[in-house]
Amino acid sequence: MGLILRVDIDKPYGNTTLVRKIASKLVEDFYAKPLFNSFGYLTHFANFLKTCNDYNVSGIMYHRICTIPNEAVMELIKKGNHKIGLHAENTRNLETFSNELNTFKSLLPDKNIAVESFSKHGSGKVKIGKYHYAPYEAEKYLEWAKQLNLKFPFGNEIGENENDFLQKNNFHKSVFWIERDYRSSTFNTLEQLVEVASIHDVGVLIHPCNYDSTKNVADDFHELIKMAKEKKIEWRLI
Ligand SMILES: [Zn+2]
Repeated sequence: MGLILRVDIDKPYGNTTLVRKIASKLVEDFYAKPLFNSFGYLTHFANFLKTCNDYNVSGIMYHRICTIPNEAVMELIKKGNHKIGLHAENTRNLETFSNELNTFKSLLPDKNIAVESFSKHGSGKVKIGKYHYAPYEAEKYLEWAKQLNLKFPFGNEIGENENDFLQKNNFHKSVFWIERDYRSSTFNTLEQLVEVASIHDVGVLIHPCNYDSTKNVADDFHELIKMAKEKKIEWRLI
């Protein structure tokens, strides 16, 4: 039993400065491939991966098409024994989802790496980006996963008690956010998380752009790594 790390890579250039925020937004909406290896593309994510690799923490890295791994990132992903998946945006119907998945796979620098699972981008309420279909419809994704022989292991709900985090039919409807603003008022401490993870598998979600830009996100992630090590809680993959 242990912690399962879900990493949603939302921002091509991170969000630490106004210029980076604007560059991220432009690439998200207009998909400018020539910029992919310049201007610090995914450097914030590479730094996050280096931290994971230093501490032997493996996770599942969910990329949007606008944050597709480049070769430098792919090397770090392989070195740390991470998995990759699609952070899906256009989930209007099975066809738009399949098209996005196929485009994603065709753009990967290493075609041998398996794409076994996906997560859903966004809170379900607000349209964030040109290609984003906002509604969050977990039942629909679970059905697609079955049809396409994929996994949809993590939902986007905020967990309010221990039960909300437990896996049912290979699905965690809630994950514990390292970003504090997305925790409930009743289940929000690393201590609560670690206590459950010592008995059950629990999903933990982080966004590398926030790890890079927000001190308490980085602090909490480092603290969780330390606590897990002390309590001998494993970081597991699915
Ligand atoms: Zn996202």
